[in-house]
Amino acid sequence: MSLYERMQSELQALSEAGNLRSLPDIIHQGNDVIVGGQKMLNLSSNDYLGLASREDLRLEFMNKMATEPELFSSSSSRLLTGNFTAYQSLEKSLCRLFNAEAALVFNSGYHANTGILPAICTNETLILADKLVHASLIDGIRLSAGKFIRYRHNDYAQLERLLQTHHKDYKQIIIVTESIFSMDGDVADLNLLIGLKKAYDNVYLYVDEAHAFGVRGENGLGMAEELNCMHDIDFLVGTFGKALASTGAYIICKKVVRDYLINRMRTLIFTTALPPVCVAWTDFLLNKLPDFKEERRTLKTSSIYLKAIIEEKGFVCPSTSHILPLIIGKSSDAIKVAKALQKEGFYALPVRPPTVPEGTSRIRFSLTAAITINELEKLKPLL
Ligand SMILES: *Cc1c(COP(=O)(O)O)cnc(C)c1O
Repeated sequence: MSLYERMQSELQALSEAGNLRSLPDIIHQGNDVIVGGQKMLNLSSNDYLGLASREDLRLEFMNKMATEPELFSSSSSRLLTGNFTAYQSLEKSLCRLFNAEAALVFNSGYHANTGILPAICTNETLILADKLVHASLIDGIRLSAGKFIRYRHNDYAQLERLLQTHHKDYKQIIIVTESIFSMDGDVADLNLLIGLKKAYDNVYLYVDEAHAFGVRGENGLGMAEELNCMHDIDFLVGTFGKALASTGAYIICKKVVRDYLINRMRTLIFTTALPPVCVAWTDFLLNKLPDFKEERRTLKTSSIYLKAIIEEKGFVCPSTSHILPLIIGKSSDAIKVAKALQKEGFYALPVRPPTVPEGTSRIRFSLTAAITINELEKLKPLL
C-alpha cells in the first residue's frame, strides 16, 4: 500500500465512524456566523467577553496606531532582533496586574505548553497530569525527558497516593492541570492542589488558564485570582487568543524561571516573535481587562441559565463555567443533534474522539458575554 493509499483508507475509516474533520467556510457577522449560506448564532466561539467583534475597541486601537504605529512583523526571534518595546510593555503590564516577579510572552498557548515542560524537565522529573489536559500539554509532556503518569480527571485522592509513592524517587515532581477544563467546563480545585504540593518540598504546580483568563476573578486574571492563590502556582500559564481577543500566551513565574526559559525553551528561541502590532493590541486590551466586569457578570448569568436548561432536559452537565457540554454519546448522534440545532439557527458544533473519550461525543456550547438570555430561551425547546 502506498503512503497515499494508506492516508485515503484512514480518512475513509474516519468518515465511516462519523469522525472525519474538514475546514468550514465561515463568514463572521457580529455574534452570528454564516456557514453554507445560513446565518446562525455562534455558540462555539472562544470570544468569551465578546471583545473580538467590538468595533469601538478596534477603532480606539487603530487611532492609537495612527500616532504610535507598530510593525506588522517582528522579522526575527525575540533573542535576535525581534524583542520590540511592545513586548517589554506587555510583560510589564502582566507583572503589574498579577503583582508578579516575572512574566514571559509566547507566540501561542500551543508554543507555551509544548515548550515549557521540555525546557524544565529532566529524566529525574516526574510529571503528574490530569487525564483531561489539553493536547498541547500532552505534546509538551511527550517532548520532555520527564516520566509521566496521568491521574483520573480531578481525582485528587489518586494524585495524593501518586505523590506519596513517588516523591522520593524523583528530584522534582510537577503537577499539571487546567483551571477550567476545555471539554467538560468543570474546574480544578487549585487550593487543594496547592495543599498537596506544599506537603513536599520537591513538588511544583503548573496551571493552564486558557479558558479562565479574562473570564474569572475580580480583574479577569483567571481562577487563580478568583481563588486568591496566584502566588502559590509555580507555572501560571494563560492565553490571549480566547477571551482577550488577540493571540499569544504568557507565563507568570519567578524571575529565575523566566531567565531559564529564555535560555532553554525551544518554542520561544527558534521561532519568529509575534508581530509587534498584535502584541500592542494584547497590551491595549489587557490594560482594560479589569474594567470588563459587566461582561464577566453577564457571562456568568447566561452560563447558569444554560446549565439549568441542560439539566432540566435530563443531561448530566459537569460544568461550572461558561463552557457547557451536552454529552450525547455516539458521534453520529452528536452530529445529528448539531445539524438539527444548526438548522434552527444555532451554530453549535459536535466534539468527537480523539478530542474527547470514546462514547462521550457531545455538543460543546461555549457562551460569550454578547449572547443574551433571550437568545438562549429559543434554544430551550430544541434540546
Ligand atoms: C486553546 C488552548 C490552548 C492553546 O492556545 P493557543 O493560543 O490557541 O495555541 C492551550 N491550552 C488550553 C487549555 C487551550 O484551551
